[in-house]
Amino acid sequence: METGTVHASRGTRGGAMGLMLKGLQAEVITIGVTLGTVADGQWVMSGDSAWQRETRVRVRSALMQLGVPACELGVIVSVDPVITKSSTSLDLAVAVAFLAALGKIPEDTIARTAFFGELSLGGDIRMIRGVAPAIRQAASLGVKTVVVPQANEHEAAFAARDTSVEVRTARSLAELVQAFNGLAELQAPSESNISPERFGIAPVDMSDVRGQGVARRALEIAAAGGHNLALIGPPGSGKTMLARRLTTIMPPMTTQESVAVTELFSVTGMLRPEHGSVHERPFRAPHHTVSPTGLVGGGDPVRPGELSLGHHGVLFLDEALEFKRSAIECIRGPIADGQVTICRSSGRTKFPAETTIVAASSLCACGFYGSSKPCTCKEERRQMYQIRLMGLDVARLDIWAPVHDAQSNTSEPPESSALVRSRVVAARNRQLSRYECREASTAVNAKLTPHDLERVAQMDNGARMVLDQGVDHFGIDTNGRRTVLRVARTIADLAGTDVIEAQHVDEALRFSKSVFGAGECRKAA
Ligand SMILES: [Zn+2]
Repeated sequence: METGTVHASRGTRGGAMGLMLKGLQAEVITIGVTLGTVADGQWVMSGDSAWQRETRVRVRSALMQLGVPACELGVIVSVDPVITKSSTSLDLAVAVAFLAALGKIPEDTIARTAFFGELSLGGDIRMIRGVAPAIRQAASLGVKTVVVPQANEHEAAFAARDTSVEVRTARSLAELVQAFNGLAELQAPSESNISPERFGIAPVDMSDVRGQGVARRALEIAAAGGHNLALIGPPGSGKTMLARRLTTIMPPMTTQESVAVTELFSVTGMLRPEHGSVHERPFRAPHHTVSPTGLVGGGDPVRPGELSLGHHGVLFLDEALEFKRSAIECIRGPIADGQVTICRSSGRTKFPAETTIVAASSLCACGFYGSSKPCTCKEERRQMYQIRLMGLDVARLDIWAPVHDAQSNTSEPPESSALVRSRVVAARNRQLSRYECREASTAVNAKLTPHDLERVAQMDNGARMVLDQGVDHFGIDTNGRRTVLRVARTIADLAGTDVIEAQHVDEALRFSKSVFGAGECRKAA
């Protein structure tokens, strides 16, 4: 572009459309730029003051790189609707509106085009958070074309797959000016540029786990029925190793699930330029010192927390008793609802949070009670610890499984994740078909209502007898009984039978909290 003086006639106007995100929700923001009606060098802007300050610096500097003497002009920037939060995603729209006011971008070429990108001081368009949800919602907001940073092209390619909106990528403001003057063309993100995010985690597999028959079985049942799980054992016994592998035996993510998880990672800024989408179930393991905000989400701008980053995956709470009371209280409701709602004066933001909880703990404060190493806890303290453990109420934990530190003595190679997953998928398909036939209100056993249980958890006589005896013997209450039935339903689904049999109930009982507590906590007493 030619440099030199700009003759902005009084009141010259330009407009451009930008997109802004609130949580996962995209909104169209119309930017208007009027030149020459205020004193030279003055920028009058509406909207959040931090946003004004930061945007002015970046947009002015980027425009100067194009030879536009942006600092010398008197400028009014209008923002509709008025924004109350800072957002870097509007940089591009402000700069384009400015260039339109100067006549450097013909305004008719950018009709129904929304710009979503942050500018560097040098005029480059920088990678930005939230491209995936912005693209997905653009069409429903009346947008025909969205221009996003070239650095986000993998993500853009994934997000653009099932939408009618046209997506274009750009590297710099200069490239935009050329393109909208017909001198170049902006690239569309290509399908071949969909590269799944792996988060640098080496692939893990159930075949890495030797022994641990009971815990392995517990994971399989949890994956098959969508049950939350407690893994109890001494330090170093492999609780984390097991929990991490739960995602590898859960059913593969559907496209819809992939889109949802990708969007959450996108707005959190966790997608890297070389990867634009998530296709593996997330595994999140926040440290017990995490703040309530870190767990449920929040901040300014509002971002999802660990609970939502574990959406469709696993949230692993290691040393579950060490988490702050306030943090546990914050997540209990959202876990039950499968959704987080963050309330602010500026409105509510919702994030999905359907995650499988794996809580892990040892049986005492020193950690070694019930293991091959001696426990150094005083009897009284240990009892207190175990009372707290049994009272752990972060979520309904349907399955309680011991993890032992003893070495495996079998020489048989352990099963692979793929093999276990095939059984899990078969069991899930049985649940899905009951849901589709309207026998149950949910496709996941863990969510079966009492009414559902009456319909789909039919037991034979032997099963009923085992359940009644167990309930009696261990003093299991009505809710506990329902939990046992849900787990028994899943075990029967893994076995491929419609009617729940005695062995299914027996196994479900052994994994119940009451039976676990009675067996493990008093074992060495
Ligand atoms: Zn101890």
